[in-house]
Order: sequence, then C-alpha cells, then structure tokens
Amino acid sequence: MGGSPVRLAAVEAPDAVLEPEINDELRELEAVSLDLETHTLSANTRRAYESAWRSFEEFCDAHSLEPLPAHPETVRWYVAWMSMQLDEHGLPRFSVATIRQRLAGVADRHLRDGVLDPTGHRGVSGLVRGLAKLRAVRPERKRPLLLDDVLRIIGSMEHDVYPAGVSAARDTLAIWLGFAGALRRSEAAGLQLNSVALHRLDGVHVHVGASKADQDNTLPDVVVLPYGETPSTCAPCAVHRWVALKNAVDRRQTMTLLFAYQLEEHVCGKAGTGPGLISSADLMSDAPLLRATYRNRKSARIHEQSVTGDALHTMLLARMAEAGMNPSAYGFHSLRAGHVTQARRNGASTEEIMRAGRWRKAETVNVYDREFNPAARNSVMRLGL
Ligand SMILES: [Zn+2]
Repeated sequence: MGGSPVRLAAVEAPDAVLEPEINDELRELEAVSLDLETHTLSANTRRAYESAWRSFEEFCDAHSLEPLPAHPETVRWYVAWMSMQLDEHGLPRFSVATIRQRLAGVADRHLRDGVLDPTGHRGVSGLVRGLAKLRAVRPERKRPLLLDDVLRIIGSMEHDVYPAGVSAARDTLAIWLGFAGALRRSEAAGLQLNSVALHRLDGVHVHVGASKADQDNTLPDVVVLPYGETPSTCAPCAVHRWVALKNAVDRRQTMTLLFAYQLEEHVCGKAGTGPGLISSADLMSDAPLLRATYRNRKSARIHEQSVTGDALHTMLLARMAEAGMNPSAYGFHSLRAGHVTQARRNGASTEEIMRAGRWRKAETVNVYDREFNPAARNSVMRLGL
C-alpha cells in the first residue's frame, strides 16, 4: 500500500494536560456529582460504607498501614485478610458480596477525598475475581421439605401428652411458619405476639419485619397462614394451640389443655367449626411468639425469651431424626424451599410464589426451580409424551 502510513489512534497516549480553567470546572462538576451521588445512596448503603471504612481503618491501624490514601497493596492485604476470617461454624465470615461492599466503602472514601481509588487497581480487582471463582463452588442449598414430609414430621410428635406436648406445640407452629409462611428462621424467631393477627376469612396474618433483601421498603410484609382443609394441615390451629398453652398459668392448666387436645377438630375458629382457643386480645403484647422451652422427662417450662433461629434449625433436624428421616442436607430453610417447590408442583405462578416468599426478583424463584423443579415451565412437558 502506498501513501502515508495510517496512524492508529490508540497507539499513542493522548495528551494528559488539561487547560487549568477546564480543570477547575471539572473539579467543580466532580464535587457536584459526588454530592448528587451522596443523595442517591440509600441510608443503608451509606451506613454500610461507613462501617466498611471503619473496618478498613482498623485493619490498617492494626498493621501500621496508611489508610488514606491507601496503597493498592494495602487493599490487597485487606482483601486477603477478609477472605481468611472464619465464623463460629468454620465458614467464611465475609462473603464475596460483603468483601465487594467493603471495597466500595473504601473507594467511596477515597473518591470523596479526591484521591486515587486504590480498589480500582488491577491487582485488587483480580484478587477479588479469583476469590469469587474459588468460592463459586455451588453453594450448599438446603433440600426442600414437601408437604408430605412436613406432615410426617408433625405427625410423629407427641401432641397430647405432658411434657412432650409443650415443645410439640411450639415446634409445629414454627414448622408451619417456615413452610406455609415461607419464613426464614431469623424471621420466625423474631416474631412477637402482636405480629400475629387472627383473620375471620383468611385464617392468620403474620406481619414479618422488613425483609433483608429490601432496602427502601421498611414496611412489614404480611404473610397469610390459611385455614387448613383438615386440622392436620391447619397452621391457624397451631397458632391457637401454642398461644393457649403459653397463656396457661401453671402446670395443671397446661396438662389439662394438652390432655383435652382434640387433634381431629379445628380449634382455630374456622367457619362452621366452633370458637377458637384464643382471641385477638391474647395477641396484644410485644412479647416473643416462639419462646425457648425447657423440657426434661417430667416437666416442661416456657421461657420468657424468644427462641433463637439456630435453635429452630436444630429443632427441625432433631424432629426429622425422630420421624425416621435423615436430616443431613436439610435445615430450617428447607421449609421455605419446600414451599416454593410444592407450590410450583401444584401449579403456582412465579408471581404467586414471589408474593408468598416476599421475593422482589423472579430470578430468585427460578433458582429454586432449576434445582428442584426441572420440569416446571419446561416445554418438554408439553410434547405429549
Ligand atoms: Zn384449624
């Protein structure tokens, strides 16, 4: 080819020198944009950034490193340090998402101070990507418990004897909250008596605290526990039995209640079945709904303080073992996963499941489908085979 050689624009770096006045203008624009950004960050993000920055400062302090401006190498050490921290179960204390958020907090602070963001360095982003890959081994998802499983677990408990019936009543309610209500264990453990409302037509409404996936909407979600066709599938009956037991003033009254249990009859006030065991007045308090229980061979006590989410998890595994099931690969989350799976098998739409499980994104529901319901909404089922 003749003529002068074509110059590729990218071969040479552009002039980095800007006119001073443009520079000032840009700086002002930058200040304005940062200010706007501050307003777009939700209060939660702002708090997360602040706590991220404090954590980074503490790390730097402990290792005699300069936090502001930080050298990219310092940030790499910080990432490595976070990746090695374990929680009390020996699992990573910081998820990759948390590490990324911590770095976003560090970046935010640097940008606001007008210094170079060290987290943008390739050495840092590469390290985080590597860690994400390393951790990307398929997360251990709890297997779902379907309705049959739930009925088997509840059916194997001793409901109408003392003292076993006391914890059976609580555990039955906890299981319905996890399965019918699709509650996470922390949500179930956090409920108060006044989170529960009796509803003449619907059964029971449960007001669940602001869900963790939900930044801007702090209104509680309402979950419905519908009347069961039969008492054995009736979550409202479990609410009535437990709250009535909790209200019993002494051991004699507790025993009387348990022995009087008519497990074949609704005690929830469902239309056409007689009055419920409790009334709305029994649900006026902000005391915890699911209490810790103490039980030995001869007696059972209901404590004032709430049960913990961990205890609910352990309870479910123990109840499964008692029902002759192998509890490994299950957890309290299996009830929530089971809700999705059972509902999908019974023909529920994504929208219905998102509503019940309080998911904002359809993709989350699809994850459950992919793992447990491969036939759901799959055209192979329409081939007429
Ligand atoms: Zn009932």
